[in-house]
Amino acid sequence: MDGNGRALLQFGQKPKIGGAGAAGLATGNRLAPRLEGAEIILLDRRREHLYQPGYMPVAAGLKPPSYTVSSTAEWLSEPLHWIEERAAERGPLAKVITTDTARRLVYDFLVVATGLELDYAAIEGMDLRRIGMNGLGSVYAGLEGAAATWRAMTALVQRRAGSASSSAPLPR
Ligand SMILES: Cc1cc2nc3c(=O)[nH]c(=O)nc-3n(C[C@H](O)[C@H](O)[C@H](O)COP(=O)(O)OP(=O)(O)OC[C@H]3O[C@@H](n4cnc5c(N)ncnc54)[C@H](O)[C@@H]3O)c2cc1C
Repeated sequence: MDGNGRALLQFGQKPKIGGAGAAGLATGNRLAPRLEGAEIILLDRRREHLYQPGYMPVAAGLKPPSYTVSSTAEWLSEPLHWIEERAAERGPLAKVITTDTARRLVYDFLVVATGLELDYAAIEGMDLRRIGMNGLGSVYAGLEGAAATWRAMTALVQRRAGSASSSAPLPR
């Protein structure tokens, strides 16, 4: 234990984290002070960090889209290392990840934090390009969808002089 009561593990090798979104960064930053001597590697090609709960105030017109976007680099504490590549293949027996540039990374521990992919195409008649048109809105279709939802709500209110309400408090 260190002076703050945290468990410190001696760690000579290299854990890898696939995905540097909210989960990957949080895991890496939590592990970093606890794994003495470790070189923790995060793999992600995306440079922007997207604060997804912020899509709601964007869709509600309370915040600009830029409120949700920061850079992955600014969330990396020592000794996290970031490789700007995608994990393309994983060999669980050999404990090797191959990236999209064919780089091979050997790991002893692997955290898979590659997020979710929403399958809007599975909804009959759904077309992501329609979000923001004809009264269709979605905060789960990414930042563009959230901004388009606010544009659609603004147009609706202007046309009908109506109002909207939410049963849950909106984040600030
Ligand atoms: C509108 C909205 C409101 C929300 N509100 C809340 C809330 O109030 N409270 C709450 O707790 N949660 C909330 N959430 C959920 C929360 O935002 C998500 O659960 C969280 O952001 C998911 O983090 P993640 O790291 O799993 O995925 P992501 O943040 O999506 O990150 C996944 C990362 O993996 C990378 N990646 C994908 N494939 C690969 C690969 N092959 N190799 C390397 N990297 C890869 C991607 O580039 C991405 O950077 C909300 C979400 C939305 C959309």
